[in-house]
Amino acid sequence: MATKKKSNTLKLKFDTAWPYAPAPESRSAAQIKDRYELFINGEWQAPLSKKYFGTINPATEEKLSEVAMANAADVDKAVKAARNAYEKTWRKISAKERAKYIFRIARIIQEKARELAIIETLDGGKPIRESRDFDVPTAANHFFYYAGWADKLEYAFLNKKAEPLGVAGQIIPWNFPLLMAAWKIAPALATGNTVVLKPAETTPLTALKLAEIIQEADLPPGVVNILTGAGETGAAIVNHPDINKIAFTGSTDVGKIIQRAVAGTNKRVTLELGGKAANIIFEDAPLDQAVEGVINGIFFNQGHVCCAGSRLYVQESVAKQVIRKLKDRMESLIVGDPLDKNTDIGAINSKQQLATINKYLQIGRSEGAEMYESACKLPNKGFWCRPTIFTNVAQSNRIAQEEIFGPVLSILTFRTDDEVIEKANNSPYGLSAGVWTDKGSKIFNMTKRMRAGVIWANTFNKFDPTSPFGGYKESGFGREGGLHGLLPYVELKNI
Ligand code: NAP
Ligand code: MG
Repeated sequence: MATKKKSNTLKLKFDTAWPYAPAPESRSAAQIKDRYELFINGEWQAPLSKKYFGTINPATEEKLSEVAMANAADVDKAVKAARNAYEKTWRKISAKERAKYIFRIARIIQEKARELAIIETLDGGKPIRESRDFDVPTAANHFFYYAGWADKLEYAFLNKKAEPLGVAGQIIPWNFPLLMAAWKIAPALATGNTVVLKPAETTPLTALKLAEIIQEADLPPGVVNILTGAGETGAAIVNHPDINKIAFTGSTDVGKIIQRAVAGTNKRVTLELGGKAANIIFEDAPLDQAVEGVINGIFFNQGHVCCAGSRLYVQESVAKQVIRKLKDRMESLIVGDPLDKNTDIGAINSKQQLATINKYLQIGRSEGAEMYESACKLPNKGFWCRPTIFTNVAQSNRIAQEEIFGPVLSILTFRTDDEVIEKANNSPYGLSAGVWTDKGSKIFNMTKRMRAGVIWANTFNKFDPTSPFGGYKESGFGREGGLHGLLPYVELKNI
């Protein structure tokens, strides 16, 4: 016991004696215009609504730009452009030509990777390390991957003819703005559909940069249309009669509204919704590795991740040890300027999201859970939340059942495999889960019995364009990524 105390003291001294020097990425590589119009039919068009709204940097509250607010008439204009492009050009050109355009988009994203990463970080608050090393390269990889499929659909669907559906309406959230746009646009284009896409209100800028890239790639006008706006703009897309498919990523509440709106129409729909992933540590797991995975699973991107490992189940025999290690590791996380390359945890995306997180911190305390937050200092301006864990959490507590979407981890314990499977499955959600153990057989037992779309074993939050992603239960339906990601965009006919 005495040795343990000593090593903690040494660690804290070390941290304060050797802080990292600031290493900020330069803003100068990011060209952000003062105002953006709507991207319709290959051109920048002023909104018929005549309205604009500001987008801010959540780390400083500084206004970055103002963007057009598309209303129903603007949506109608964009859908007409997409329909026209579908009938006259995109469905007619050869699959090989379609592939060339998509490859071109992928390559231009790579060329502009630095600028895109800086803009993503400025507009959304995520650390530059993540936008630089994860969001932007993974977005480019999605375009590369689906470009490869465009002229090989006959191999994707053997003995079937894959026909496009027509115009796809796509609505995305604020947590991975460019990456979500890539997840949506790449498979739609590869299968011969045209697109009307709406980014989230707080993070429109990288989608608008993508519009510039699409212009530079010389895509036929109207194949991709990008409309900025609010929830009503999304609703106008969902309710437009000339849209054949809705692809939505966002909250379960809005997903339910959309499902109701398209019921009885011939629109196809896929929904990627919320999550409350169980991350499970067995006593035989490599604990240091598991702790690092838990930290990554919940604090990555400020916990603004649908598949964040926000419920931790630790086997009782190692719970004390794991919680000690987690607390130690939390103290070394760097919270602050998202543009700094050393930052681990950036800004909360919006004032509204910070209020939601704070509401859950209050709920957790009033439910009797014990809260522990890292001692880090927070900047004066902007929206911030310390990495936080709750112990003494009961399965029925709201902080163990509801999605918080912030850097907040609820920790529960278990004794047996059966118990933890029952607890992990006791959730309205089923998007992802994690298992940490030394035993392969245990991994297979868990993956077979847990109801979640993705289950990581001895790792967490790993993504690849070739791998399908999507939920069970109230986390939605349909898959994005991989071969499965083509399916929602095609009609299969027997040949
Ligand atoms: P959200 O409020 O549902 O918004 C998502 C998108 O829908 C935004 O573009 C939003 O526009 C738009 N929207 C709002 N109301 C609408 C309506 N009535 N009809 C059509 N569109 C509407 O979700 P969020 O808060 O941005 O994102 C966080 C949620 O997304 C979390 O629950 C998270 O788990 C989920 N998510 C899931 C996945 C996944 O793959 N399963 C991935 C990422 C995020 P405004 O921005 O203008 O409100
Ligand atoms: Mg913003």
